[in-house]
Amino acid sequence: MVQAKVRLFVDHPLTQGQTVPLDKDQSNYLFAVMRLQIGAFVALFNGVDGEYQAEVTIANKRGGALICHAQSKPLQLPPDLWLIFAPIKKVRTDFIVEKAAEMGAAKIVPVSTNFTNSERIRQDRLQAHALEAAEQCGGTYVPEVTDLQKLDRLLAEWDETRQIMFCDEALVGAAEVLGAVQGDKWAILIGPEGGFSESERQKLHALPYAHPVSLGPRILRADTAAVAAMTVWQQHLGDWS
Ligand code: SAH
Repeated sequence: MVQAKVRLFVDHPLTQGQTVPLDKDQSNYLFAVMRLQIGAFVALFNGVDGEYQAEVTIANKRGGALICHAQSKPLQLPPDLWLIFAPIKKVRTDFIVEKAAEMGAAKIVPVSTNFTNSERIRQDRLQAHALEAAEQCGGTYVPEVTDLQKLDRLLAEWDETRQIMFCDEALVGAAEVLGAVQGDKWAILIGPEGGFSESERQKLHALPYAHPVSLGPRILRADTAAVAAMTVWQQHLGDWS
């Protein structure tokens, strides 16, 4: 079978023989931008059924349809890892969401902290970034991006069986401790450009399920820290090894 060059997320059930209608934006993308014609193949995924190779049966710029052939990938869920971060400038926040989706976060949780620079996010736009990242990286799962919430509130309602890899810039240069900690459910916590406040730091250090970690001898920008922390976590505890 021809392997599709284009991957597309569709909000529709996928199974062999299933017809999948396309909306206007999807049709415009496939038939006007990518110039696909009837008979072309597209890889479809919906976040739950894996990936299917689908053939174009109707190709109008305002609407189209595909029919699913064989499944080309089963659903592959990421490890149960959340990325919690304080939003920074728009482009850097977009970067964090995109990289978190590529690197295998199950959920992306923006939080406001004492020194958070940005008090608002566009959740729908960030979710769209996560979806695009999944399309591009061959993923079959799209992490949910939650709405902005207060870190205090999130910690107050915390499931104590979920460990926190607390990236604490105050530990810059200290040896990192992650290797010894066990647990299936995790969250990485990254602060804003201004770092964590002393009261936040004290509170986090007192939580038995929060593990303060250093990311090396240099202070990283929040977006770099998010990628570095996910790399370390995936290598030690995730689906890389
Ligand atoms: N303004 C702060 C730095 C904040 S960096 C200062 O000068 O101290 C943004 C976030 O990245 C931090 O809150 C932390 O979560 C993470 N981070 C950056 N470098 C780090 C390091 N070396 N160790 C642990 N966490 C780090």
